Amino acid sequence: MASPARPSTSRPARAKQRRGEGQWALGYREPLNPNERSKKDDNPLNVRARIENIYAHGGFDSIDPADLRGRFRWFGLYTQRKPGIDGGRTATLEPEELDDRYFMLRVRLDGGALSLAQLRVLGEISQRYARDTADITDRQNIQYHWIQVEDMPAIWKQLEDAGMTTMEACGDSPRVILGSPVAGIAAEEIIDGTPAIDEIKRRFIGDPRYSNLPRKFKTAISGQADVAHEIHDVAFVGVNHPEHGPGFDLWVGGGLSTNPMIGQRLGTWVPLDEVPEVWEGVISVFRDYGYRRLRSRARIKFLVKDWGAEKFRQVLQDEYLKRELIDGPAPEVPERPIDHVGVHKQVDGKRYVGFAPIAGRVSGTTLLAVADAVERTGSARVRLTPQQKLVVLDVPEDKVTELQVALSKLGLDSEPSPWRRGVMACTGLEFCKLAIVETKARAHDLVADLEKRLSDIGLDEALSVHLNGCPNSCARIQTADIGLKGQIVTDNDGNQVEGFQVHLGGGLGLDAGFGRKLRGHKVTSTELTDYVERVVRNFAEKRENGERFAQ
Ligand code: SF4
Repeated sequence: MASPARPSTSRPARAKQRRGEGQWALGYREPLNPNERSKKDDNPLNVRARIENIYAHGGFDSIDPADLRGRFRWFGLYTQRKPGIDGGRTATLEPEELDDRYFMLRVRLDGGALSLAQLRVLGEISQRYARDTADITDRQNIQYHWIQVEDMPAIWKQLEDAGMTTMEACGDSPRVILGSPVAGIAAEEIIDGTPAIDEIKRRFIGDPRYSNLPRKFKTAISGQADVAHEIHDVAFVGVNHPEHGPGFDLWVGGGLSTNPMIGQRLGTWVPLDEVPEVWEGVISVFRDYGYRRLRSRARIKFLVKDWGAEKFRQVLQDEYLKRELIDGPAPEVPERPIDHVGVHKQVDGKRYVGFAPIAGRVSGTTLLAVADAVERTGSARVRLTPQQKLVVLDVPEDKVTELQVALSKLGLDSEPSPWRRGVMACTGLEFCKLAIVETKARAHDLVADLEKRLSDIGLDEALSVHLNGCPNSCARIQTADIGLKGQIVTDNDGNQVEGFQVHLGGGLGLDAGFGRKLRGHKVTSTELTDYVERVVRNFAEKRENGERFAQ
């Protein structure tokens, strides 16, 4: 249980310095910006009742603007971008000028875990309420578009009847918990983190004590390094302790966007049954000590950077857990991020098969067809991955080919080209109000072009090419081999056009670090394929002894 916020005992000089950060634990509870004011005025979780009782009946025009652009997010709802507004105008328009009357809706799927019944419900909702849209996000969510507020009560009923939710899918809250897509069945896994994910969700998601955080709070829990743990606010990664056995190594303070930071190890070993308690301690530190004055400094990484791992661990132990944590070793680091694409043997002898849609784009129709094909193999479990992929579990060996053939007809490939496998893209200009450039369609064209142009290059691994529609990093551009940050650039004729700032050589795993932003490397969207082709050919020609791109 977390300690309540306490009045400051700091000396006046220190108090003065910290007052500007709005940290609750130091006694500064007065909101210092409109977001903090909105959360204080009304707990964002209360918006659900207003949506069901008022807005669903009164329609879009009945929505209080403070709910529309603020509290709706706690239930996974954002207004989507009005069609036809080009990216060059994004920064010049007021939010209401960018708002469409339709919503993006995010369904949180902790651990990316889906039964066939749930997959079918997601497909049916897409067809009925979302114009057949459905994207697999790199946070293991399903994201819809074209949702109307009038339909939300029916959508929630269908989701919740099937054991799914949109609660705290967005907002300054504990968002979806990433988990290994192959938890419990992979030979490489040190420990199955699923019970901890389930328990945290059961005890803390929707708990008003943790629904007003300084900003979003991203969690990853996995028995192997397959969930991008280095860039999470808090992460638990499987590790074997020489005395205590399998458990988790605790990381805090990772994050991308501006001021990216690789998370820091606290040097502790946490057994499975203590993960929820330690997670509650970390989120409580963030709630109470996190910076609330500036949104741009409100992620936990800023606190961890200022404090350092040692002080963070000390505060966690002394003030929240009231006990010492056990020291522990670092987890093993994979050479490359694990994406689970392809056919793999499970510990029980069955197979799991990972499929690659392009940049996570599927549809309700596709999800329903996947469910039918999976059912024919005798499997009943599907997982979404942090790389925008889809994995089918429990496939009998003699049914693998049948499944591969069926899903390849749906555009889901289990033996994809390196480009289809390595490309990720955020929502981009099609629907996102912050976007400056198009991303999903661009990613689709890029994959098609590269598959034709680079078929002569035999790369033994996928190169990650990630596209973002703006300077935020929803598609993790800083940790890609080739990261592309959407912005307006000047073409050869002096025109302002859509393009990308290039970051080269980022990675996770053994190469964990951020790509270098090369000053001269800006490409227009129309030149993108030529640019990537040049970079890849150059790498393939000069590479020595299996050298990795980030080396
Ligand atoms: Fe939107 Fe920018 Fe995130 Fe892409 S990176 S989804 S454009 S906020």
